Amino acid sequence: MKLVKCPECGNKAEYSSKNEHRPFCSRRCQLLDLGAWASEDRKIAGKEIYNFEEEDETLH
Ligand SMILES: [Zn+2]
Repeated sequence: MKLVKCPECGNKAEYSSKNEHRPFCSRRCQLLDLGAWASEDRKIAGKEIYNFEEEDETLH
């Protein structure tokens, strides 16, 4: 049995076909990691939209 460190919480996770959430230790950690990436994308997209609106205003 191969064990890896869960990227989310640092606990030992089983790295095998038995663990469908690998390399995470659990579904919770997998979702937390995906959620972190998703919120980061939203932050970047929101900033781009804000900058665009600001530039548009200066044209008037
Ligand atoms: Zn974990």
